Amino acid sequence: MSRIVILGAAESGVGAAVLAKVKGYDVFVSDSGIIRQDYADLLRQYDIVFEQNHHTESLILNATEVVKSPGIPKDAPIIQALIARHIPIISEIEFASRHTSAKMICITGSNGKTTTTSLIFDILSRAGLDVGLAGNIGNSLALQVAQNDHAYYVIELSSFQLDNMYDFKADIAVLLNITPDHLDRYDYCFQNYIDAKMRITRNQTPAEAFIYWSEDEVITREIERLQPKATLYPFGSSATHNVAYTDGVNLVVNIPEHPALSIGTDELSLRGKHNQYNSLAASIAAQLLNISNLTIREALTSFKGVEHRLEYVATIGGVKFINDSKATNVNSCWYALESMTTPTVLILGGKDKGNDYSEIDQLVRSKCKALVFMGLHNEKLHEHFDTFGLPIFDTDNLPDAVNAAYSAATDGDTVLLSPCCASFDLFRSYEDRGKQFKQQVRQL
Ligand code: ADP
Repeated sequence: MSRIVILGAAESGVGAAVLAKVKGYDVFVSDSGIIRQDYADLLRQYDIVFEQNHHTESLILNATEVVKSPGIPKDAPIIQALIARHIPIISEIEFASRHTSAKMICITGSNGKTTTTSLIFDILSRAGLDVGLAGNIGNSLALQVAQNDHAYYVIELSSFQLDNMYDFKADIAVLLNITPDHLDRYDYCFQNYIDAKMRITRNQTPAEAFIYWSEDEVITREIERLQPKATLYPFGSSATHNVAYTDGVNLVVNIPEHPALSIGTDELSLRGKHNQYNSLAASIAAQLLNISNLTIREALTSFKGVEHRLEYVATIGGVKFINDSKATNVNSCWYALESMTTPTVLILGGKDKGNDYSEIDQLVRSKCKALVFMGLHNEKLHEHFDTFGLPIFDTDNLPDAVNAAYSAATDGDTVLLSPCCASFDLFRSYEDRGKQFKQQVRQL
């Protein structure tokens, strides 16, 4: 019997273990940390053998195949030992896809994945399709395939998941953008990260669709170089060479043999230029699945958005508070600032991932009336922004940051938390940072 070893027992790993067990493999799960109680319970429920707090090499290196959690870096000793023995390492998505014939709609990019994935899922659900949400959000694909398989899956794919995908084929692939991120996991080489992202179109043929932002220079250069075989559906900001575009006033989708769709940008429930692109990508995917323009319009005009992404919190004393805690890199903060329509007090800072803040210089000058730094190490922010002539507040905790921002704002202004940085210096996660921000704001 083939032996499947699963490394990492969180959402994706436990899902893969359940699926492997249901399909009759010899299954072993190993996690170098503590396994969450509910996950351990699920493993027990399926009689799956597991260990936690360590990896026992003799129980792992005899695997036929290993399913690796996307969180485990490839330089981890156990991964190196597997590579040295030429034992195949795959992702949970790769494993799960072997056991379902569902249509796969897959979304990747440096920014906008969760928003676009949620939007597409919302459209497909409204259209009455039997659809599951998987990947970085929702339940693991493998668990759904094991317990309650669907006809369609909308899957958010990170570069780490794409790294270990080989035979998987997306029916519809969406690539939103590529900007430097996670370089610490890619030997500080941008091209390695780009190569991971481009794997989304791997194995596609002309029968499959590849939807991408045509104004991203990295993507267009890679398409030129790799010549993907999929049918291409570019979107951008003009009608030239694009099947869908936004001119700032209307979103227009014009795919041959599909009824044209036009929606005013002020009708969209999600604000900001970046969300117009996300909406274009979602509309193309939906049209290719023959979903009616009526349903697409209904979804785009009433979609509630996703927590911690330009999320409206409250208006207090005439000051609007926006939680964009998920903006963990400079590019996503750029789009947040770009969408601001009133003078803005920006709260930024945290764990810097090698950021180049010059990308937001112009927007900081044109939109911000004050900056609040919130982090354990604000030196780099001071070095970059102190000469801008804006009021600057230095804080190392969230209550101080919110109070400082509120004191700097007046009636009609916006306070925007869009940190450009990871949260781990002061918070457990970006969700924790966003939740604490909302709590603090509501106490003002
Ligand atoms: P991801 O899942 O890729 O991290 P999210 O949808 O969670 O993306 O959004 C993360 C941040 O990126 C948000 O704060 C938002 O302001 C910004 N963002 C969303 N869509 C885009 C886009 N298409 N281009 C650039 N930035 C975006």
